[in-house]
Amino acid sequence: MLDRFNRKINYLRISVTDRCNLRCHYCMPADNPCMLRHQDILRFEEIQQVVAVAAALGVDKIRLTGGEPLVRRDIVELVSMISAVPGLSDLAMTTNGILLPDFALPLARAGLRRVNISLDTTDAVKFREITRGGDIQKVFKGIEAAREAGLLPVKVNCVVGPGPHGEDARGVADYCMRNGLQLRFIQQMDLQAGHFGIVEGGSGGDCKHCNRLRLTSDGKMKPCLFSDLSYDIRQLGIHRAMEMALDTKPEKGTVNRLNCFHNIGG
Ligand code: SAM
Ligand code: SF4
Repeated sequence: MLDRFNRKINYLRISVTDRCNLRCHYCMPADNPCMLRHQDILRFEEIQQVVAVAAALGVDKIRLTGGEPLVRRDIVELVSMISAVPGLSDLAMTTNGILLPDFALPLARAGLRRVNISLDTTDAVKFREITRGGDIQKVFKGIEAAREAGLLPVKVNCVVGPGPHGEDARGVADYCMRNGLQLRFIQQMDLQAGHFGIVEGGSGGDCKHCNRLRLTSDGKMKPCLFSDLSYDIRQLGIHRAMEMALDTKPEKGTVNRLNCFHNIGG
């Protein structure tokens, strides 16, 4: 499908939960005021239907994110339901990696192709600080498990602050080099209490070449991360919600005041 600005939209990012087993300070407040009600979270059948409609409209890349996708109960089953949809060329996941030692192999067997794992430092103490309590050894083991399970290429997402990259970013770069991992630096966005701040001109992304739509864990189709626009698939129907998201996809994002980042899924 093409949007109003002739961009080919073939990528859907799906947030499967707003819950997380970490509390990264740049993403979530220590206590989670944005918590969705259980009944508002999409069921697996609904997510699979969205993927089927999207695939029929020309989407061939799906990424599962969150929150932390691996804390969604029976996530392996969801992956196999999605991978059974005809027409997909890529099925990936963004994860903090903590639970990958247990999940990497079952996920690969269920049809997941690859993972992006978030890692902002290689220092255990700093990692604990950034994530408010996370154990970096589990992430290292998760990365290893992903490689062994063939979830390749394993990519690392490293959030960096403004200014020149510090020793944390250099440490992560070294680690990735030594372990044959692809590294992507992500500019930290200014979130206040879990919400986006102003990102003028969509400095969070490459708007000209944006190829994606997003689905929140409570069923809102969003044309852009930096926009308040969203279309409820339960109210409008999946097809209509997707069409409306496509038709209103802005040339450039500006600001999002309504959604929590960890619900839309980075
Ligand atoms: N829990 C998973 C994880 O951490 O990989 C998936 C969801 S997380 C919201 C997706 C990505 O968004 C992660 O790579 C994370 O580092 C990034 N992220 C979170 N808060 C951010 C912020 N304020 N600015 C830029 N990236 C952010
Ligand atoms: Fe959780 Fe990922 Fe947000 Fe960290 S960045 S709090 S791991 S959702």
